[in-house]
Amino acid sequence: MNEYDSSRMADALAAETEPARTPEEADIILFNTCSVRDRAQEKVFSDLGRMPPLKERNPNLLVGVGGCVASQEGGAIRKRAPFVDLVFGPQTIHRLPKMIAERRKTGEAQVDISFPAVEKFDELPPPGASGPSAFVSVMEGCSRYCSFCVVPYTRGEEISRPLEGVLEEVAFRAMRGAKEAVLLGQNVNAYRAPAADASGGEADFAALLECVAAVDGIERIRFTTSHPAAFSDRLVDAYRRVPQLPDYLHLPVQSGSDRILSAMKRGYTALEYKSIIRKVRRARPNIVISSDFIVGFPGEEEKDFAATLSLAEDIGFDFSYSFLYSPRPGTPAATMPDNATTAEKKDRLSRLQELLEQNGKAISRKMLGDTETVLVEGRAKRGGGDMRGRTGNNRTVNFPGDDSMIGEFVQVKIAAAEAHTLRGEVQL
Ligand code: SAM
Repeated sequence: MNEYDSSRMADALAAETEPARTPEEADIILFNTCSVRDRAQEKVFSDLGRMPPLKERNPNLLVGVGGCVASQEGGAIRKRAPFVDLVFGPQTIHRLPKMIAERRKTGEAQVDISFPAVEKFDELPPPGASGPSAFVSVMEGCSRYCSFCVVPYTRGEEISRPLEGVLEEVAFRAMRGAKEAVLLGQNVNAYRAPAADASGGEADFAALLECVAAVDGIERIRFTTSHPAAFSDRLVDAYRRVPQLPDYLHLPVQSGSDRILSAMKRGYTALEYKSIIRKVRRARPNIVISSDFIVGFPGEEEKDFAATLSLAEDIGFDFSYSFLYSPRPGTPAATMPDNATTAEKKDRLSRLQELLEQNGKAISRKMLGDTETVLVEGRAKRGGGDMRGRTGNNRTVNFPGDDSMIGEFVQVKIAAAEAHTLRGEVQL
C-alpha cells in the first residue's frame, strides 16, 4: 500500500518535477511513513535527523512527511522536527502540488491530514509507473477497529473506489503492458460499490474480481489484504470462476487462540478461519496459504500461543509475516494488562517463525520438477545474467534468460529450492 502511495506521490508531482538521483540534489524530499508498529514510526524520526545539514546546503529544500505517522502525529511532528515543511496524510497526496506552492509562497509550514475520501482518485493524474504488475488501490481505510491496530485512525474508515475508476486504471495499465493486477486495500473484501450496469445493485469484491479478470491483457490477479471476517462464499467461489487468481491466498489470522482473537476483536474463531481455508481448498486443492501473526498480544499465555502453533501446523501455512505485538497509542489494546515478559514473547516468536520457515521450505521442495507459470519481473538480484520472476504462489524464481522476457509470462521448470528463492529453466 505504501509503495503504491509513494508512486502516486511521484505521479502527483510529475508535471512540475523530475526525480533527483541523490538527496543532496533534491529540492523536495518526501518521507512516506508507516505507524503500524512502533519501530517503523521511530525510524522516520531518525531518518529526519539527516535533513538539517541538507537544508543548510540547499535553503530551497522542502521536507515533507506523509503517510500514517503524519496522520497520527499531525502538526506535532514539527515539535520534534521543526524543519519539516509539509505534513500530509495518505488521503491528501493529490493536494501536494498546492501545498508545495503554498509553502513556497507564504513560507508557512503546511499541514493537511484530513480524509477527503475518494477525491484523491479523481484528482490524481493517471499513474505514470509502468511494469508488468499494476498496483491499484480499490478501497481505502478500515472500519474493523481490531483492538491492536492504528489503521482506522490513520487512514480513516473504509471507503471503496467506484468500480469504473478501478477498471479504468487497470485497463490503462494493461494497455501499457501490465499483465498482473494487484488490488490493494486494508480490507479488500469489504469492497462495495454501485454496480457498473443500470441494475441499481451493488458490486462486491467477488464481482470486482470478475470485472478485472475481463480486462484485456490481465492474466493474473493478486489482492492484499483481505480479512477473514468478511471472506464470503462468493469470494471462495471466485477461486472456481476466475482462472486469473493464482493458487495463493494471503489471509491474516493473527492468533490461533479464540480468547486472544476475541480480545483482538477479530470477529472470527480459529475454527471459522479453518472453515474458510477448507472451503478455499475445496475450490483450489493446490492453493498455498500465508498469513500475518501477532505474538505477545496483551494477556497471551503459553496455552494461547500453543493454539497458534497448532493452527499453523494444521493449516500448513507458507512463509508468513509474524511480529511481536507493538502497543499503538490510542488503540484499546495499548492499555490492556500484560503479564508475559519480553523474553517469553521473543521466544514464542522465534518458535513460530521456525515452524513457518519449515513449512515454507517444505512447500518449495514439493515444487521441484513442476513447471510453473512465471511473470518475469527483471534481472536476478544477484546478477550472473539470470532473470527473475514470480510464480503464482508468490515465490521468486531465478533462471537463465534475457531482457526480452521482462514483463512476459514464461513456463519455468523448477530445478532447485534455495532458502527463499527457486531456480529453474525456461521450457520452450
Ligand atoms: N487488514 C488486514 C487484517 O488485519 O487482517 C491486515 C492489515 S494490517 C495493517 C498488517 C498487519 O500488521 C496485520 O495483519 C498485523 O499482523 C500487523 N499489525 C497491525 N498492528 C500491529 C501491532 N499493533 N503490533 C504488531 N503487529 C501489528
